[in-house]
Amino acid sequence: AAVPPGAPTIFDKIINKEIPANVVYEDEKVLAFRDIAPQAPTHILIIPKVKDGLTGLSKAEERNIEILGHLLYSAKLVAKQEGLEDGFRVVINDGPQGCQSVYHIHVHLLGGCQMNWPPG
Ligand code: 5GP
Repeated sequence: AAVPPGAPTIFDKIINKEIPANVVYEDEKVLAFRDIAPQAPTHILIIPKVKDGLTGLSKAEERNIEILGHLLYSAKLVAKQEGLEDGFRVVINDGPQGCQSVYHIHVHLLGGCQMNWPPG
């Protein structure tokens, strides 16, 4: 089903501190916090503080290019902060077939164990 671009998600509650999150990194534009159901020893979500229509990557517009780069660069900073010098993976799930469950764009940063490819 189509998700209205303005519809709030659980991540708005985390941004607004209405529910707690284990925040590991933050700047004026992004927030990074540990996933509540980690799929790797290190599993962090990096989100824009302002969604600006970015329910998912498939909804990206040219105006979102700066924040998209900011999210990826933040993933690099957090990977370094987390000591993932042997490598890591970033993932953006999109839509039903991509197993997206929260419609506020987010980058998964996964590390701390050997990743496998291709995924299932
Ligand atoms: P998606 O499946 O949309 O790519 O990823 C959503 C992620 O958000 C999942 O990995 C899920 O575990 C995580 N998540 C959902 N609700 C919460 C929450 O309330 N707090 C935190 N920290 N993570 C959440």
